[in-house]
Amino acid sequence: MLIDLHSHTTASDGALGAAALVELARREGIGVLGVTDHDTVGGLDEAMGAAAGLGIEVLPGVEISSYYGRQEVHLLGYFVDHRFPALLERLAAWRDDRVGRLHRMVERLRRYDIQLDADRIAARAGGSVGRPHVAMALVEGGHVATVEEAFDRFLAEGKPAYVARERVPVAEAIALVRAAAGLPVLAHPGIYGNDGMIPDLVRDGLAGIEVLHREHSDAAVTRYRRLAARYDLVCTGGSDFHGLAGAKSQRLGHPSLPEEDLRALRARHGASP
Ligand code: AMP
Ligand code: ZN
Ligand code: FE
Ligand code: FE
Repeated sequence: MLIDLHSHTTASDGALGAAALVELARREGIGVLGVTDHDTVGGLDEAMGAAAGLGIEVLPGVEISSYYGRQEVHLLGYFVDHRFPALLERLAAWRDDRVGRLHRMVERLRRYDIQLDADRIAARAGGSVGRPHVAMALVEGGHVATVEEAFDRFLAEGKPAYVARERVPVAEAIALVRAAAGLPVLAHPGIYGNDGMIPDLVRDGLAGIEVLHREHSDAAVTRYRRLAARYDLVCTGGSDFHGLAGAKSQRLGHPSLPEEDLRALRARHGASP
């Protein structure tokens, strides 16, 4: 049985709706699927409903876009109460901020004679709108050949159409996940190149780190296992599957988390105050 604790649906920037994602998980032999959309829990009810009949467990989650200083970091929240009003309210505010940012990105692209319709992009995104939606509009408009090229030329940090979101401090995201009865886990730390943030985040209430991720080398996995042991953090992992054509290769269920890590995650959740 495969265990994949990191995936995205059309509630944020995934290509598959929640029910279709769960159906794919069944075909791929996944027993436990974490659904972790960016700044929204909007896919969870559908995912859990679809899973019920298929013998799959959906582990409710969210991936909050936040900042450690000027460094963007993603904070996963597992087992959050996805009806907790304060959580829903904060996530809605951050999604609104994403819409404002979308308009600013579209504005910047006009300088390159690229006319995109921000309202249409937002409407098609449906939930939590992000750079991948802009990238797809750039591909469809024939301005770039691939999503990857859209990021490389325009949308990646430091590129001309990049606009930062509201800089939500990661400590605030950790506190919100805790308030919603969830376990805060640092997503894909290998991407940030700053392990020094980890002791700081532990002081802020971090419960785990995502040790297994497609962007982590074997050496990174070993390093994060050690750091997790040193700071008494649980280890999570998953594919970060988006299902987008043309995106970097992502396969649901790969990497898969060992069952003993999932057991430790559940135990930590049961023990948390
Ligand atoms: P946003 O949340 O709007 O800042 O968009 C971030 C998302 O864009 C990430 O979660 C990835 O899914 C995607 N992304 C980031 N960088 C790239 C890239 N170079 N190529 C393709 N997708 C990317
Ligand atoms: Zn994404
Ligand atoms: Fe992420
Ligand atoms: Fe993700």
